[in-house]
Amino acid sequence: MPAHRAGVTWAERPWQDPAGCDIETGGRYGVHELGIAQSIVDSVRDEAAAHGGGRVTRIGLRIGELSGVNADALRFSFQISVQDTEFDRAELEIEEVPLTARCSSCHAEFRVVNFDTACPTCGSSDTRTTRGDELQIVFLEME
Ligand SMILES: [Zn+2]
Repeated sequence: MPAHRAGVTWAERPWQDPAGCDIETGGRYGVHELGIAQSIVDSVRDEAAAHGGGRVTRIGLRIGELSGVNADALRFSFQISVQDTEFDRAELEIEEVPLTARCSSCHAEFRVVNFDTACPTCGSSDTRTTRGDELQIVFLEME
């Protein structure tokens, strides 16, 4: 099921051009999360239809630190996006995934802080990101 929509941009979603957008955010948040929230709603609508069109009660999301998505902004944007839709009572459950890497030399796994990917155990810079770039719908609960 997971619908991976990382990398959705305004260019790919021209109908959400902020210049012509009538959604009022009060200037609190950028358009980034609004676009993502809208693509989540689209994905959930497709998934719900594929599973018989029941009412969606909960949506589980996983967002990695590297995705640059702010969870609070996304919650707020989601509320705006589902207003007056069939999903207006759906709850959003967000799991935030810290950016994590593994060292190729000593195999230590560590949390990346301030995008410093050098291994804190042995100092090697030969490390690979293991978690933290997720932007996924992980589950839907329907009734
Ligand atoms: Zn190491």
